[in-house]
Amino acid sequence: MIFPPDNVKYLVKKMVLTLGGDPAMCQSYRKTCACGQSVSEIFFGKMVLGERCVAEVYCPKCSQGIDRDPESRIWDNGWILELNMDVVRTQAHLMGTSPEEVNAGWVFDEGFATWVGMTPDDFQTREVERSEIQKLAKTDLRAYIGAMRDWGLNREKRFVHEGWRKAIGRR
Ligand SMILES: [Zn+2]
Repeated sequence: MIFPPDNVKYLVKKMVLTLGGDPAMCQSYRKTCACGQSVSEIFFGKMVLGERCVAEVYCPKCSQGIDRDPESRIWDNGWILELNMDVVRTQAHLMGTSPEEVNAGWVFDEGFATWVGMTPDDFQTREVERSEIQKLAKTDLRAYIGAMRDWGLNREKRFVHEGWRKAIGRR
């Protein structure tokens, strides 16, 4: 393993700080919902926001009775992504907007804080579905290839049909 010289490390750190990010942040982040029964995976596009901007995630079981509050919460098929707007506002200029104008829906739709896949738990359901199809590969390779192709197309259609925010936005 080659270690970068100290001046490179310094420059990278400086770049990250200049961009307004947290040096320890990563591009995606798994967060357990308020009731602890589900896990979501959140993606931070363009390296502006980090996990400090996520206040809470609610799954369809724990989102009952939560206020709409479009200022800080994104509703998506019963799930809620709640942002810490105090943190988000400090980064507004880096996202090309202003602290007065920025709201959670915009941040989500622009991809600064959004689901990793099409849905909050896409990273889990994708693996379960894929491993089902992969069983076919052992017995019928041609059917397997067809099934994989159909799976991708049908998933897209299913997400649109179910009304997921990212799937609808992409049409
Ligand atoms: Zn929950």
